[in-house]
Amino acid sequence: MASITIDDVTKEFGEGAESVVAVDDVSLDIADGEFVVFVGPSGSGKSTLMRIVAGLETQTEGDVEIGDAIVNQLGPRARDIAMVFQNYALYPNMTVEENMSFGLKMSTDMSDDAIEESVTSTAEMMDIGALLDNKPGELSGGQQQRVALGRAIVRDPNVFLMDEPLSNLDAKLRAEMRTEINRLQNDLGVTTLYVTHDQTEAMTMGDRLVVLNYGELQQVGTPLECFYRPENQFVAGFLGSPS
Ligand code: ADP
Ligand code: MG
Repeated sequence: MASITIDDVTKEFGEGAESVVAVDDVSLDIADGEFVVFVGPSGSGKSTLMRIVAGLETQTEGDVEIGDAIVNQLGPRARDIAMVFQNYALYPNMTVEENMSFGLKMSTDMSDDAIEESVTSTAEMMDIGALLDNKPGELSGGQQQRVALGRAIVRDPNVFLMDEPLSNLDAKLRAEMRTEINRLQNDLGVTTLYVTHDQTEAMTMGDRLVVLNYGELQQVGTPLECFYRPENQFVAGFLGSPS
């Protein structure tokens, strides 16, 4: 089970007059297998919240639970979370196969044969099976992003955290990858938290939309609810709701 509970989470950077409240008392329950999209202007705390859920950043107050476990008490190996970022940071000197198998080698007890089998089948699913011996520099941006996704998926995580994973791609590729991510998420049933500032992604990809501003939750609802029944002026303006 990978339901996620975000409970009164606040993150403050710095102290005194210089301090920034990046995440301001956010609470949210996410169901096992749900796809939740987070939107908000630059600096609204989206990435900080993702990093807290991933256990990469320690919150000032509050708790995050994944399943029955409190995130800060889990070791990285037990967290079972895969992250995909905007700059997907493939290892440039490793082949696609090595990029995809590296995490499994580091964090599981799987045999080399089992790892090779998972990497091969995931690569085929992601349509990069023919590229396993190539280096990232030899691939197009779209292919690299597929490798980054494949690398995340091959670990068979309980939770996907994706932080603007498509923003470096051109519009056509973005549309294609949008569909791909939704298909994969559906097939795998992985609980997914997805950050974007793209209107189309916000309106089409998730079961629920979370709108943030200055670290505060503005609205949580289905994309259509948020769009047609915005709870405040900020949400209406940000989503471009009809007035
Ligand atoms: P978003 O992803 O929505 O653009 P971020 O979570 O990156 O927002 O940032 C939220 C706020 O926290 C911003 O004001 C940002 O400057 C600040 N912030 C983020 N990370 C740090 C950090 N490591 N140190 C200080 N301030 C930070
Ligand atoms: Mg960000």
